[in-house]
Amino acid sequence: MNQNELLDAKKHIIRISRDLHEIGLLVRTWGNISSRVDDDHMLITPSGIRYEDLTPEMIVQVNINDLSYEGEYKPSSEMKVHAMAYRIRRDCGFIVHTHQVFATCAGTLGLKKIFSYYNDEDVTIPVAPYAMPGTDKLAENVGRTLKKYSGSNGIIMANHGTLCLGSNSNEAVYQAEMMESACNDFLIDVCKMDMTHGVEYGYNSHREGDSIVYENSDTPERVKRIHEQIYAKRSDVNFIMHNKSEAALVVSRRANHMKPLLDDFAQLIGVGVKIPSNEDEIYQNIKKNVNVVFAHNDGAYCVGATEDDATAVAMVLDKGCIAYIAVMRNGEGHYLSLLECIKMNRHYRKSYSKLADLKK
Ligand SMILES: [Zn+2]
Repeated sequence: MNQNELLDAKKHIIRISRDLHEIGLLVRTWGNISSRVDDDHMLITPSGIRYEDLTPEMIVQVNINDLSYEGEYKPSSEMKVHAMAYRIRRDCGFIVHTHQVFATCAGTLGLKKIFSYYNDEDVTIPVAPYAMPGTDKLAENVGRTLKKYSGSNGIIMANHGTLCLGSNSNEAVYQAEMMESACNDFLIDVCKMDMTHGVEYGYNSHREGDSIVYENSDTPERVKRIHEQIYAKRSDVNFIMHNKSEAALVVSRRANHMKPLLDDFAQLIGVGVKIPSNEDEIYQNIKKNVNVVFAHNDGAYCVGATEDDATAVAMVLDKGCIAYIAVMRNGEGHYLSLLECIKMNRHYRKSYSKLADLKK
């Protein structure tokens, strides 16, 4: 590729990322996209930058054999998985990795394959066994799955997301859309309920100096007490988003202990969340480094230092609740181990505070 072709390829990656962002398959900085340059190189989106903010100079060229790269932007931490896929599938020219909701949740049930349908045709989606994000082990698991199912261009990475391959971007995007629709139908079958995803806000608030500002003037006293307790116990919290999404409401009705089924849940929310059976228990569940406080039968309060952080927590919570319901109804699933959760949670908080320092 000459310089002009390289620039076009970078612009194309950005265009596809915006398309996928628009239809909701890519959100915030989650997931990543790459395209093949030649036998030994790929272009990939950088780590930690929102799709809306991408410019061509941020797209990084990486050697798929030794993972070396040049320039000031760090390639996505999931580049190992992309490089592995390009090495194994010589015909692959474009890869989309998403954390899309339904396919990701279907990948928490501990199944080796998901059977569903798309446009009246049967589809089988292989699931690569779990390993922690960014590890060699994860790339190996993905590589083995791609070799074993050489006819599949779309696989699920257990408890994490999808990997969608194509000779070009159209084919890779098709895989992402097909998998989301097929997995939505699959989850409706498993859960015997309609599956919707999104954040449904109830009573939100934020801190202004020493006072609490409620978004709704009709916020009940009962709810205000919960907000006051959260701010009192968590000096790091400035925003509270009350998420009453369908999935969060369903989960909030059953007192239990919610262990992470998804990598991003362990990272952003915490290593475990209690669902209380009464009002008093809510207050005992306000804990450092756990960014969700469930209310009994009334959804969950998602907290953060900024509005943006609290919103991210609310989105990840909704997805986590869908996975939780799917595993409950399925009767089994693959939970992340406590050690894995602790490692991911620490790693995320460390790199997040570094990023926040850079922005100051
Ligand atoms: Zn990912």
